[in-house]
Amino acid sequence: MVDSRRPPEVDRAAASRRAVAARRERAALKRDVSTRVISPQELLRRALADPSSAAGAMRVTEFLTAIPAIGESKRDRILDSLGISPVKRLGGLGSRQRDALRDYLDSRWPEPGPRAGRSRLIVLAGPTAVGKGTVAAYIKDNHPEIHLSVSATTRSPRPGEVEGEHYYFVDDTEFDRLVSTGALLEWATVHNRHRYGTPREPIERVLAAGGTALLEIDLQGARQVRAAEPSATLVFLLPPSWDELVQRLVGRGTEDAEERARRLRTARTELAAQNEFDYRVVNDDVASAAAEVVALAARRPGDPGSR
Ligand code: 5GP
Repeated sequence: MVDSRRPPEVDRAAASRRAVAARRERAALKRDVSTRVISPQELLRRALADPSSAAGAMRVTEFLTAIPAIGESKRDRILDSLGISPVKRLGGLGSRQRDALRDYLDSRWPEPGPRAGRSRLIVLAGPTAVGKGTVAAYIKDNHPEIHLSVSATTRSPRPGEVEGEHYYFVDDTEFDRLVSTGALLEWATVHNRHRYGTPREPIERVLAAGGTALLEIDLQGARQVRAAEPSATLVFLLPPSWDELVQRLVGRGTEDAEERARRLRTARTELAAQNEFDYRVVNDDVASAAAEVVALAARRPGDPGSR
């Protein structure tokens, strides 16, 4: 006899595949929050926008423990103080609970807003392998009105790289001289190997003429520019997800396990620096990420902020 309460075998198999896929998607979202690729507020926004999505189906307990610095006992205290039952899913929160959770997140991890009075000196930075170079090259090819800074470096040219176009290739003695004469706006040793720096004079010339200068540099360099030119516009390029960044970082599979682990650790630390930046742009598609950066560059100091 057929039991009418039990779904047929094929349906159950399909349902269990769907459940596995949904669990995977929730796990990927939790990684995005724990690595700071997206803010907790962003995940909550996605959950509320579509309660049937993976974000919407996430339990509040899972959500909170995905946030760095929240363990299980802290999670329980938070839920208790906000009056939210631990069995609730994000998409099923009542309006008072949503507001309470959002206020809590905003008070603990405020999302950075753009600072007023940004200048036409634009710094593009972000984690290794996020695609800064590709976005910068796209802007150079499609927006000749924006001056892309050419750095000095002590590393040797790769095949196809042209002196004065991709880099100024210099030796250690020459780099020392650039540093000691103050010719560099910022400089850093990148990946513990070679030195890279931004020649100051071309940037000053472009800015004095009313133009826009774009620097594609590492995080240490971005911090130095912030210190030297507090009005500089700092843009942080983000991957669309943590899993995507992992793919871009280690996808080729040419590195050994230790090197892969080292790169992933570095990427986590780099992502944690994003709140120092004025704007965040997601590099989902190179052309649209470039368009966003260009739009920021077109803004004038004093324009109202937007993100
Ligand atoms: P690559 O050797 O692959 O061309 O560049 C390696 C890294 O150096 C990239 O992350 C790039 O952003 C960074 N970089 C390139 N030029 C500069 C620079 O002038 N200053 C700093 N601080 N970093 C740079």
